[in-house]
Amino acid sequence: MNNAWAWRVLSRKVRLLTAGVVAALLAVSATAATAAAAAASPASVSAAASSSCPWVASQAPIAQRVAQLMSQMSLDDKITMVEGHGTSNPYVFYTPAIPALCIPAVGLEDGPSGVADGLTGVTQLPAGVALAATWDPSLAQQYGQVIGAEEYGKGASANLGPTVNIDRDPRWGRSFEALSEDPGLNAALDVPEIAGVQSQDVESQVKHLAVYNQETYRNTPSDNVIIDPRTEQEIYLPSFYAAVKSGDASVMCSYAMINGDFACNNSNLETTILRDEWGFPGFVMSDYGALHSTQGAVQGTDQEQPFDTYYGTALQTAVQNGTIPVSVLNTMVQRVFTEMFRFGLFDHPRTGNTGATVTTPAHVAVTTDVAEAGTTLLKNDGGVLPLSSSGSIAVVGPAADASPIYAGGGSAYVIPSGTVSPLAGIKAAARSGTSVAYSQGLPVDTALPSIPSTNLSPAYAPTPFGGSYTGTLTAPETGTYVLAITNPCGCYTSTYLSLDGTQIIDDPSTPPVHTYSVAVSLTKDQTYTLSISGASSQLLWGTPSALAPGILAAADAAKSASVAVVVVSDDTESEATDRLSLNLPSAQDELISAVAAANPHTVVVVDAGAPVAMPWLPAVAGVLDAWYPGQTNGTSLASVLFGQTDPGGHLPVTFPVSLSQVPASTMAQFPGDGTTVQYSEGIDVGYRWYDAKDLTPMFPFGYGLSYTQFAFSKLSVQGPSVVDGTNDVRVSATVTNTGKRTGSEVAQLYLSDPSASGEPPRQLAGFQRVNLAPGKSTRVSFTVTPQAMSWWDDTANGWTQTAGTYGVYVGDSSALAGLPLQGSFTMGTTAGSRQVTVSAPSTMQPGQAAAVRVTLTAGGSATLNAVRLALQLPEGWTAKPTGPTNFGSVSPGQAPAVTFMVTPPSYAPNADAVVHATATTGDWLREAGVTVTVSG
Ligand code: BGC
Repeated sequence: MNNAWAWRVLSRKVRLLTAGVVAALLAVSATAATAAAAAASPASVSAAASSSCPWVASQAPIAQRVAQLMSQMSLDDKITMVEGHGTSNPYVFYTPAIPALCIPAVGLEDGPSGVADGLTGVTQLPAGVALAATWDPSLAQQYGQVIGAEEYGKGASANLGPTVNIDRDPRWGRSFEALSEDPGLNAALDVPEIAGVQSQDVESQVKHLAVYNQETYRNTPSDNVIIDPRTEQEIYLPSFYAAVKSGDASVMCSYAMINGDFACNNSNLETTILRDEWGFPGFVMSDYGALHSTQGAVQGTDQEQPFDTYYGTALQTAVQNGTIPVSVLNTMVQRVFTEMFRFGLFDHPRTGNTGATVTTPAHVAVTTDVAEAGTTLLKNDGGVLPLSSSGSIAVVGPAADASPIYAGGGSAYVIPSGTVSPLAGIKAAARSGTSVAYSQGLPVDTALPSIPSTNLSPAYAPTPFGGSYTGTLTAPETGTYVLAITNPCGCYTSTYLSLDGTQIIDDPSTPPVHTYSVAVSLTKDQTYTLSISGASSQLLWGTPSALAPGILAAADAAKSASVAVVVVSDDTESEATDRLSLNLPSAQDELISAVAAANPHTVVVVDAGAPVAMPWLPAVAGVLDAWYPGQTNGTSLASVLFGQTDPGGHLPVTFPVSLSQVPASTMAQFPGDGTTVQYSEGIDVGYRWYDAKDLTPMFPFGYGLSYTQFAFSKLSVQGPSVVDGTNDVRVSATVTNTGKRTGSEVAQLYLSDPSASGEPPRQLAGFQRVNLAPGKSTRVSFTVTPQAMSWWDDTANGWTQTAGTYGVYVGDSSALAGLPLQGSFTMGTTAGSRQVTVSAPSTMQPGQAAAVRVTLTAGGSATLNAVRLALQLPEGWTAKPTGPTNFGSVSPGQAPAVTFMVTPPSYAPNADAVVHATATTGDWLREAGVTVTVSG
């Protein structure tokens, strides 16, 4: 165990042990929250405001209020605002009130699918991947509103979410929590979701910046991602870019190490890209223990959570002895306060508390709406779905009722306020002529018996944290066994079960599931080495003959029913672990096969957050992927099964045939060899890879059936009179419901760049979800922006375009077979890799003008018209000339430039600021910025 690993284990353990004392914790939470609220109650704040806190309830610009406040702060006060305060606070991340300065306490709470971290009285929404499967920005906004409203009601100031990392590999344990494999789909959904959260006066903290795509080795140097800038810019950063440009208050830096620097100690990512290139004004907070040195202050992390390892005394000393300039600490504090003022935390201190019940029927209804809209129909042979309103249904599987799964595991896990199992939902929705019978089929994992000492030598004995066990198993019969272990530590730390040296279970002991199972084939009288590494309290099994009666009973029930609905789940997807395979846990595959053999009208419902292997696919008539649907699982499922709702979901991730097909199929790529993780597939992530390599996956990205049929026609591609990459191209098409039912379709636009660009064959450039009555048509229209026609040029260190023919494809999946409409447009000339540059003095004085020069470099082949060079300055700063400067016509060889005289306000504190500039023409944009220090 290396040190970093040990440290992570312990820090997580501290958190989880605290959380482990459940009743006590909840009691403490409620009391502490009340105390915190009392400490900064509106009355006490306004009393103080009238006397010594003029920044409260003031009409002055936020920047001025921040400066006023900072001028009254001691070094201690400033450190309080940037250090973590441990794990015994009412919220998972926290800064305490400083009553003398009228600074309220700030609670930050997970997370991506509702208020998490063990709080109750909240709504458990569907997982992020289910939201992404809706392809519906308006649902994303509602989803965000529910999260924001509930965080607000709990007294939290910020929501730790959304998780917008790319689903690079289906094994990533947090795939369910993130949205999709496509940066454009992520961006299109995270922006409205963030708007929804922030509409409730709650700060959004988009996470995790960046290139965090696996749990194995997380927060250690072994997760050293080797990635080129182009791949980072084109695939892994756009969802963050869109979030921060839309006004997201905060960013969480990730556990990944990127090209040798941890994300929270990464000045390229946090300063050069996030601050200078993008002009992000909000604050950056470390993920749980993700900061690795005090230099993070200089590198761009504004707050450490939840500990004070590097920003407590260490930062204070560094500032005192001048190793870190005070301007750096001031910058951090200024960013945190700016968002606090913006979200009204000073003027309207939060009155909610962690004990409040914040779920409402309206919030629960959003859960059901999102789950229904995201449920994805993958197969529907012979129109087996929707179920007819009469007949008999055999509902099969532990996941249908005995151990249903609603959500993935880890910090995103939300305790539901109530649940509807699939069986309960089906029973409630079945009409009077329909009979519903339940057959569990398999034991739930926790009910499996221990492996007896007659078959295991030496007898299994539980292992403590860090412990191990090795024994020899003698198989009493040939067939499929279920093996299971229980990791009781609650510490987000894996326990492995290995069979003959191959890891077959990785159980991280995160909420809500602690017992993980796997199916293995064993041969009678053969011996196998079973070994456990880590904490384990049980080693369980189901032998073939013990499993057989349940499976047979399920097959019998299916045989005598008109249709069988087998509900299966993957309950092993969680933070802190990656899946070892795509197989369903337990013997669910065997159960499906037995049921399908008994009844040709078998429908499989998958509750999982990522692709699963489907060896039984040819044998079943129907497959619905319901993802992790949240607390009203059964309600949304029944609505889709019985056809009240069309299963309008489309896949936000490619379903591979097997792991040998995935883009990161080598160990060097995923999860790495213990020293680096090579992102050598480059920009060919997800469907881009399958298209580039001409691979046919099990189901392509974007795919999803409906109970009705749709046709696409009348493609129109309309560009400006001269397509030079600076203006939008408009694409439209007609979608017609050619079937007999009302249904929904997701029209998708893919763009192919000229091959000289080196881009993948096709990339998503727009989408629109429509709902149509039978026989009805509608026009869908898409805007292909200059950015969609651009790629990142490592040599130029910026975006560029390639002249030539751009292919336009419209249909309802990423695979060519799903893209019936094809057209093109030609970009004759381009602005090429022109970039904007900014030069400014490294230091400026408050109230004193300094020259800032903005230049658009020469290049490309297009003559550009109406070029505007403009500055974006922090609040209170002024520039002359005041507005943008326009250039009528700029030929390829010209490099227009403007010198602005820029003045920081007289009140500007001694802190860093970004002077940001843009060059635009039409919808084409280049941007850049430089960090300057105001001497204050
Ligand atoms: C997770 C974050 C989460 C944080 C606080 C970390 O382990 O990676 O996503 O916000 O814990 O719970």
